[in-house]
Amino acid sequence: GGKRRGGQKLRAADIMIAVRTSRKFHQSRLALLLATWIPRARVQTIVFTDGEDKELEKTSGITMVQTHCPPVHSSQALTCKLASEYRTFLHSGRRWFCHVDDDNYVNPRALSDLLARYRSSEELYLGRASLDHPIEATERIGNKTRSVNFWFATGGAGFCLSRALAVRMLPWVGGAALAGASERIRLPDDCTLGYIVQRWLHVALTPCPLFHSHLENLALIPASRLSAQVTLSYGVIDNRTNVVNLRGPFSISEDPSRFHSLHCLLFPDTSWCPRQVH
Ligand code: UDP
Ligand code: MN
Repeated sequence: GGKRRGGQKLRAADIMIAVRTSRKFHQSRLALLLATWIPRARVQTIVFTDGEDKELEKTSGITMVQTHCPPVHSSQALTCKLASEYRTFLHSGRRWFCHVDDDNYVNPRALSDLLARYRSSEELYLGRASLDHPIEATERIGNKTRSVNFWFATGGAGFCLSRALAVRMLPWVGGAALAGASERIRLPDDCTLGYIVQRWLHVALTPCPLFHSHLENLALIPASRLSAQVTLSYGVIDNRTNVVNLRGPFSISEDPSRFHSLHCLLFPDTSWCPRQVH
């Protein structure tokens, strides 16, 4: 773990959770989040997308930002969305910027408990270390290349930046700078962020195992520990579904992502969760 000097009382409005999505996922992935954790984190959440959906914005009551980024899965398009999230965070004046993908479940209580252990006035980059060693990349400046090593947080598990770090990052992330950095090392947005934080700002990643992406085997998280995790996810590994291991209350066919079951574990007072047996 990182430094824990004192920590800080946090209100919901001190945190910005940026959810990255795409118009094509509004009715599927985003709808699942809107049916589960997002209503429990209304104050924190802003959705970043690439196509208008006035209807959804109205029915959900959640702020949606039109990034005008291309609606594709390219590294450029995803970097464009991350840069938009960053700009919105800087203007927001909030203390913590947390990014998640639209296949993440965020436990707002666990997130708030985690961040309260730190100070947003210190330069912090919190997330799940993507590898158990630094990534080796090739940096190209002009026609010179050199090998660089750095740690980065898996974007698909979510990560958080303190305001102090985000502010100092401006020359490297503002305007077209993030896109430039991504081109310079030819790696995706999450690697690029790690590169900027470690190589240009000399801040170390604070590794946090409470963030989870679908790149890891989610069934290995003990059911008794699920409620302590900050983020979870769902997906496919080697043609097999990769989801958290929860018996119920909903079946795999009713709830393939397991997010409804997880939500009832965390928020049993939700109207559509089965009443608890006394
Ligand atoms: N995404 C996007 N535009 C696209 C496809 C994906 O913004 O055309 C977003 C998606 O909503 C998610 C993130 O990029 O937040 C990662 O996409 P996905 O989970 O499909 O792929 P992964 O990188 O996890 O394999
Ligand atoms: Mn994903």
